[in-house]
Amino acid sequence: MTPKFAVFGQPIAHSKSPYIHQAFAAQRSQSLAYERIGPEENEFEDAVRTFFAEGGKGANVTLPFKERAYAMCEVRTERAEQAQAVNTLWMEKGILHGDNTDGAGLLADMIRNLNWKLINKRILVVGAGGAVRGVLGCLLTAGAEEVVITNRTYERAQGLAEQFSLRAVALEDLHQEAPFHIIINGTSASLAGEGLALPSSLLAENACCYDMMYGEETPFMQWAQRHGAQVSDGLGMLVQQAAESFYRWHNWRPATMAVLQSMRQQV
Ligand code: NDP
Repeated sequence: MTPKFAVFGQPIAHSKSPYIHQAFAAQRSQSLAYERIGPEENEFEDAVRTFFAEGGKGANVTLPFKERAYAMCEVRTERAEQAQAVNTLWMEKGILHGDNTDGAGLLADMIRNLNWKLINKRILVVGAGGAVRGVLGCLLTAGAEEVVITNRTYERAQGLAEQFSLRAVALEDLHQEAPFHIIINGTSASLAGEGLALPSSLLAENACCYDMMYGEETPFMQWAQRHGAQVSDGLGMLVQQAAESFYRWHNWRPATMAVLQSMRQQV
Protein backbone atom coordinates (compact mmCIF):
# COMPACT_ATOMS: atom_id res chain seq x y z
CA MET A 1 0.00 0.00 0.00
CA THR A 2 1.25 3.50 -0.82
CA PRO A 3 2.48 5.11 2.42
CA LYS A 4 0.47 8.17 3.41
CA PHE A 5 1.88 11.52 4.56
CA ALA A 6 0.34 14.95 5.01
CA VAL A 7 0.86 18.53 6.08
CA PHE A 8 -1.59 20.14 8.51
CA GLY A 9 -2.10 23.92 8.58
CA GLN A 10 -4.66 26.68 8.08
CA PRO A 11 -4.55 28.09 5.47
CA ILE A 12 -2.79 25.25 3.70
CA ALA A 13 -3.50 25.57 -0.04
CA HIS A 14 -0.21 27.45 -0.57
CA SER A 15 1.95 24.75 1.06
CA LYS A 16 4.90 23.55 -1.01
CA SER A 17 5.47 20.50 1.19
CA PRO A 18 3.71 17.99 -1.11
CA TYR A 19 5.91 19.06 -4.02
CA ILE A 20 9.10 18.89 -1.94
CA HIS A 21 8.37 15.46 -0.45
CA GLN A 22 7.35 14.01 -3.81
CA ALA A 23 10.59 15.35 -5.31
CA PHE A 24 12.60 13.71 -2.51
CA ALA A 25 10.74 10.42 -2.94
CA ALA A 26 11.37 10.48 -6.71
CA GLN A 27 15.11 10.46 -6.02
CA ARG A 28 14.78 6.87 -4.82
CA SER A 29 11.85 5.93 -7.10
CA GLN A 30 9.62 5.69 -4.04
CA SER A 31 5.92 6.14 -4.34
CA LEU A 32 4.10 7.98 -1.56
CA ALA A 33 0.94 9.98 -1.07
CA TYR A 34 1.35 13.43 0.51
CA GLU A 35 -1.75 15.58 0.99
CA ARG A 36 -2.61 18.98 2.43
CA ILE A 37 -5.06 18.94 5.35
CA GLY A 38 -6.59 22.19 6.58
CA PRO A 39 -8.77 21.44 9.60
CA GLU A 40 -11.01 24.01 11.20
CA GLU A 41 -9.49 25.70 14.23
CA ASN A 42 -11.17 23.37 16.76
CA GLU A 43 -10.68 20.18 14.72
CA PHE A 44 -6.90 19.92 14.55
CA GLU A 45 -6.40 17.22 17.21
CA ASP A 46 -9.24 15.07 15.83
CA ALA A 47 -7.89 15.42 12.30
CA VAL A 48 -4.41 14.28 13.39
CA ARG A 49 -5.82 11.33 15.34
CA THR A 50 -7.95 10.30 12.35
CA PHE A 51 -5.00 10.59 9.97
CA PHE A 52 -2.86 8.21 12.03
CA ALA A 53 -5.75 5.88 12.84
CA GLU A 54 -6.26 5.48 9.10
CA GLY A 55 -2.66 4.41 8.61
CA GLY A 56 -0.86 7.76 8.09
CA LYS A 57 2.91 7.32 8.39
CA GLY A 58 3.99 10.87 9.10
CA ALA A 59 2.78 14.45 9.10
CA ASN A 60 4.20 17.93 8.95
CA VAL A 61 2.53 20.70 10.89
CA THR A 62 2.62 24.39 10.08
CA LEU A 63 0.90 27.56 11.27
CA PRO A 64 -1.08 27.86 13.47
CA PHE A 65 -0.89 24.34 14.87
CA LYS A 66 2.76 23.72 15.81
CA GLU A 67 2.25 24.35 19.54
CA ARG A 68 -0.88 22.18 19.61
CA ALA A 69 1.00 19.41 17.84
CA TYR A 70 3.67 19.71 20.53
CA ALA A 71 1.02 19.36 23.22
CA MET A 72 -0.38 16.21 21.58
CA CYS A 73 2.91 14.30 21.49
CA GLU A 74 3.78 11.75 24.14
CA VAL A 75 7.42 11.64 23.06
CA ARG A 76 9.34 14.67 21.80
CA THR A 77 12.89 15.26 20.67
CA GLU A 78 15.10 17.63 22.62
CA ARG A 79 14.87 20.27 19.91
CA ALA A 80 11.07 20.02 19.97
CA GLU A 81 11.19 20.52 23.75
CA GLN A 82 13.34 23.62 23.30
CA ALA A 83 11.05 25.01 20.61
CA GLN A 84 7.86 24.01 22.46
CA ALA A 85 6.52 23.43 18.98
CA VAL A 86 6.45 20.44 16.64
CA ASN A 87 6.52 20.42 12.84
CA THR A 88 7.09 16.69 12.31
CA LEU A 89 4.86 13.91 13.65
CA TRP A 90 5.06 10.15 13.42
CA MET A 91 3.62 7.16 15.25
CA GLU A 92 5.76 4.48 16.91
CA LYS A 93 4.05 1.51 18.58
CA GLY A 94 0.87 3.54 18.89
CA ILE A 95 2.64 6.48 20.53
CA LEU A 96 2.68 9.89 18.88
CA HIS A 97 6.21 11.30 18.49
CA GLY A 98 7.17 14.86 17.57
CA ASP A 99 10.25 16.69 16.34
CA ASN A 100 11.03 20.24 15.27
CA THR A 101 13.26 20.41 12.20
CA ASP A 102 13.14 24.18 11.57
CA GLY A 103 16.39 25.02 13.34
CA ALA A 104 18.30 22.20 11.65
CA GLY A 105 16.83 23.40 8.35
CA LEU A 106 18.01 26.96 8.90
CA LEU A 107 21.51 25.84 9.90
CA ALA A 108 21.81 23.46 6.94
CA ASP A 109 20.77 26.22 4.56
CA MET A 110 23.17 28.82 5.95
CA ILE A 111 26.14 26.48 6.38
CA ARG A 112 25.82 23.91 3.59
CA ASN A 113 23.86 25.68 0.85
CA LEU A 114 25.04 29.26 1.31
CA ASN A 115 28.47 28.42 2.71
CA TRP A 116 28.13 31.08 5.42
CA LYS A 117 30.58 30.77 8.31
CA LEU A 118 28.98 30.88 11.75
CA ILE A 119 31.86 29.77 13.95
CA ASN A 120 33.17 32.62 16.13
CA LYS A 121 30.77 35.05 14.44
CA ARG A 122 28.40 37.52 16.05
CA ILE A 123 24.79 36.72 15.18
CA LEU A 124 21.77 38.98 15.67
CA VAL A 125 18.33 37.41 15.63
CA VAL A 126 15.40 39.78 15.11
CA GLY A 127 12.01 38.50 16.27
CA ALA A 128 10.71 36.50 19.21
CA GLY A 129 7.77 34.57 17.81
CA GLY A 130 7.33 30.87 17.08
CA ALA A 131 9.83 30.76 14.21
CA VAL A 132 12.62 32.22 16.33
CA ARG A 133 11.86 30.00 19.32
CA GLY A 134 11.98 27.07 16.91
CA VAL A 135 15.49 27.79 15.67
CA LEU A 136 17.38 29.25 18.66
CA GLY A 137 18.33 25.91 20.21
CA CYS A 138 20.00 24.71 17.00
CA LEU A 139 21.54 28.09 16.28
CA LEU A 140 23.29 27.98 19.64
CA THR A 141 25.08 24.78 18.64
CA ALA A 142 26.73 26.43 15.61
CA GLY A 143 29.78 27.77 17.47
CA ALA A 144 28.95 31.48 17.18
CA GLU A 145 30.87 33.91 19.35
CA GLU A 146 27.58 35.40 20.54
CA VAL A 147 23.92 35.20 19.62
CA VAL A 148 21.95 38.33 20.52
CA ILE A 149 18.18 38.67 20.25
CA THR A 150 16.05 41.74 19.68
CA ASN A 151 12.35 42.23 19.09
CA ARG A 152 9.75 44.94 18.64
CA THR A 153 8.19 43.86 21.94
CA TYR A 154 11.29 43.75 24.09
CA GLU A 155 9.73 41.59 26.84
CA ARG A 156 9.31 38.71 24.40
CA ALA A 157 12.98 38.90 23.46
CA GLN A 158 13.84 38.92 27.16
CA GLY A 159 11.73 35.80 27.71
CA LEU A 160 13.60 33.88 25.01
CA ALA A 161 16.92 35.28 26.19
CA GLU A 162 16.24 33.82 29.63
CA GLN A 163 15.13 30.46 28.25
CA PHE A 164 18.17 30.10 25.99
CA SER A 165 20.75 31.98 28.11
CA LEU A 166 21.30 34.74 25.55
CA ARG A 167 21.54 38.50 25.69
CA ALA A 168 18.47 40.52 24.67
CA VAL A 169 18.83 44.08 23.38
CA ALA A 170 16.01 46.56 22.84
CA LEU A 171 15.60 47.78 19.26
CA GLU A 172 16.34 51.36 20.32
CA ASP A 173 19.65 50.31 21.91
CA LEU A 174 20.96 48.43 18.88
CA HIS A 175 23.03 51.41 17.69
CA GLN A 176 25.32 50.78 20.69
CA GLU A 177 26.11 47.22 19.56
CA ALA A 178 29.31 46.14 17.81
CA PRO A 179 28.66 45.03 14.21
CA PHE A 180 27.22 41.57 13.50
CA HIS A 181 28.44 39.11 10.86
CA ILE A 182 25.02 37.50 10.50
CA ILE A 183 21.59 39.06 10.95
CA ILE A 184 18.55 36.81 10.81
CA ASN A 185 15.11 38.32 10.30
CA GLY A 186 12.71 35.93 12.04
CA THR A 187 9.87 38.46 12.22
CA SER A 188 6.75 38.50 10.11
CA ALA A 189 7.38 42.15 9.14
CA SER A 190 8.29 41.06 5.61
CA LEU A 191 4.91 39.35 5.22
CA ALA A 192 3.38 42.82 5.56
CA GLY A 193 5.97 44.29 3.18
CA GLU A 194 7.61 46.17 6.06
CA GLY A 195 11.31 46.67 6.79
CA LEU A 196 12.96 46.60 10.20
CA ALA A 197 14.55 50.07 10.53
CA LEU A 198 17.87 48.69 11.80
CA PRO A 199 20.93 50.97 11.96
CA SER A 200 23.39 50.12 9.17
CA SER A 201 26.21 50.24 11.75
CA LEU A 202 25.02 46.77 12.76
CA LEU A 203 26.45 45.26 9.58
CA ALA A 204 30.02 44.02 9.77
CA GLU A 205 32.07 44.02 6.58
CA ASN A 206 30.89 41.12 4.38
CA ALA A 207 27.90 40.57 6.65
CA CYS A 208 25.25 38.00 5.70
CA CYS A 209 21.54 38.69 6.16
CA TYR A 210 18.91 35.96 6.20
CA ASP A 211 15.16 36.55 5.93
CA MET A 212 13.14 33.51 6.98
CA MET A 213 10.35 34.60 4.69
CA TYR A 214 10.48 33.34 1.11
CA GLY A 215 8.75 33.98 -2.16
CA GLU A 216 9.96 37.50 -2.91
CA GLU A 217 12.77 39.90 -2.18
CA THR A 218 11.85 41.57 1.11
CA PRO A 219 12.50 45.13 2.34
CA PHE A 220 14.99 43.64 4.84
CA MET A 221 16.91 41.96 2.01
CA GLN A 222 16.87 45.17 -0.02
CA TRP A 223 18.18 47.14 2.99
CA ALA A 224 20.99 44.60 3.48
CA GLN A 225 21.93 44.65 -0.21
CA ARG A 226 22.03 48.44 -0.26
CA HIS A 227 24.65 48.26 2.48
CA GLY A 228 26.76 45.63 0.73
CA ALA A 229 25.66 42.51 2.64
CA GLN A 230 25.05 39.07 1.17
CA VAL A 231 21.39 38.08 1.43
CA SER A 232 19.16 35.05 1.35
CA ASP A 233 15.48 34.41 1.76
CA GLY A 234 14.11 31.38 3.66
CA LEU A 235 13.33 29.06 0.76
CA GLY A 236 16.39 26.94 1.48
CA MET A 237 15.31 26.62 5.11
CA LEU A 238 11.93 25.35 3.94
CA VAL A 239 13.53 22.66 1.77
CA GLN A 240 16.10 21.69 4.39
CA GLN A 241 13.55 21.35 7.21
CA ALA A 242 11.55 19.12 4.89
CA ALA A 243 14.66 17.03 4.22
CA GLU A 244 15.07 16.56 7.99
CA SER A 245 11.46 15.38 8.24
CA PHE A 246 11.99 13.05 5.31
CA TYR A 247 15.04 11.60 7.02
CA ARG A 248 13.07 11.13 10.22
CA TRP A 249 10.31 9.17 8.45
CA HIS A 250 12.32 7.23 5.84
CA ASN A 251 15.75 6.98 7.48
CA TRP A 252 17.23 8.24 4.21
CA ARG A 253 18.65 11.66 3.41
CA PRO A 254 17.47 13.23 0.16
CA ALA A 255 19.61 15.57 -1.94
CA THR A 256 18.24 19.08 -1.60
CA MET A 257 20.03 21.35 -4.07
CA ALA A 258 18.16 20.31 -7.22
CA VAL A 259 14.82 20.55 -5.40
CA LEU A 260 15.71 24.00 -4.11
CA GLN A 261 16.74 25.15 -7.59
CA SER A 262 13.54 23.93 -9.17
CA MET A 263 11.51 25.68 -6.46
CA ARG A 264 13.43 28.90 -7.05
CA GLN A 265 12.30 28.77 -10.66
CA GLN A 266 8.68 28.27 -9.57
CA VAL A 267 8.53 31.14 -7.08
P1 NDP B 1 4.87 35.02 14.96
O1 NDP B 1 3.56 35.66 14.67
O2 NDP B 1 4.95 33.95 15.99
O3 NDP B 1 5.91 36.17 15.40
C1 NDP B 1 6.01 37.33 14.68
C2 NDP B 1 7.27 38.10 15.07
O4 NDP B 1 7.45 39.18 14.17
C3 NDP B 1 7.19 38.72 16.46
O5 NDP B 1 8.47 38.75 17.02
C4 NDP B 1 6.69 40.15 16.14
O6 NDP B 1 7.05 41.10 17.09
C5 NDP B 1 7.47 40.40 14.88
N1 NDP B 1 6.86 41.43 14.00
C6 NDP B 1 5.68 41.37 13.36
N2 NDP B 1 5.49 42.47 12.61
C7 NDP B 1 6.58 43.25 12.81
C8 NDP B 1 6.99 44.53 12.32
N3 NDP B 1 6.21 45.23 11.49
N4 NDP B 1 8.19 45.03 12.71
C9 NDP B 1 8.97 44.34 13.56
N5 NDP B 1 8.65 43.12 14.06
C10 NDP B 1 7.46 42.59 13.69
O7 NDP B 1 5.41 34.53 13.53
P2 NDP B 1 6.43 33.34 13.26
O8 NDP B 1 7.52 33.46 14.25
O9 NDP B 1 5.71 32.06 13.18
O10 NDP B 1 6.95 33.65 11.76
C11 NDP B 1 7.92 34.66 11.50
C12 NDP B 1 8.42 34.55 10.06
O11 NDP B 1 9.16 33.36 9.85
C13 NDP B 1 7.32 34.56 9.00
O12 NDP B 1 7.75 35.42 7.94
C14 NDP B 1 7.29 33.12 8.50
O13 NDP B 1 6.89 33.04 7.16
C15 NDP B 1 8.75 32.75 8.64
N6 NDP B 1 8.99 31.27 8.73
C16 NDP B 1 9.74 30.67 7.75
C17 NDP B 1 10.02 29.33 7.79
C18 NDP B 1 10.84 28.71 6.70
O14 NDP B 1 10.90 27.47 6.61
N7 NDP B 1 11.49 29.48 5.87
C19 NDP B 1 9.51 28.48 8.90
C20 NDP B 1 8.75 29.21 9.89
C21 NDP B 1 8.49 30.55 9.80
P3 NDP B 1 6.11 41.35 18.40
O15 NDP B 1 6.54 40.32 19.40
O16 NDP B 1 6.46 42.74 18.81
O17 NDP B 1 4.68 41.20 17.96
